Amino acid sequence: MLIGGDTVKNEVIKCPNCHDTTIGKISKATYFCSNCCSEIVYRKDEVYVYKHNEDGRMIDNLKLRGFEY
Ligand SMILES: [Zn+2]
Repeated sequence: MLIGGDTVKNEVIKCPNCHDTTIGKISKATYFCSNCCSEIVYRKDEVYVYKHNEDGRMIDNLKLRGFEY
């Protein structure tokens, strides 16, 4: 994956958790990956991933820095 110096804008290309592209937009900075049931929240230069199980319960959360996933 090429990551240049450009800031990632509103478009999310891949899930940081499973790298799937089946990502739906919930709100301006919140996305949901239906492949791994993860909620992805973008804040400035940080990315938060909240994993859910099939019941919708949160089972894990990750904090990623930048977009180097
Ligand atoms: Zn995913």
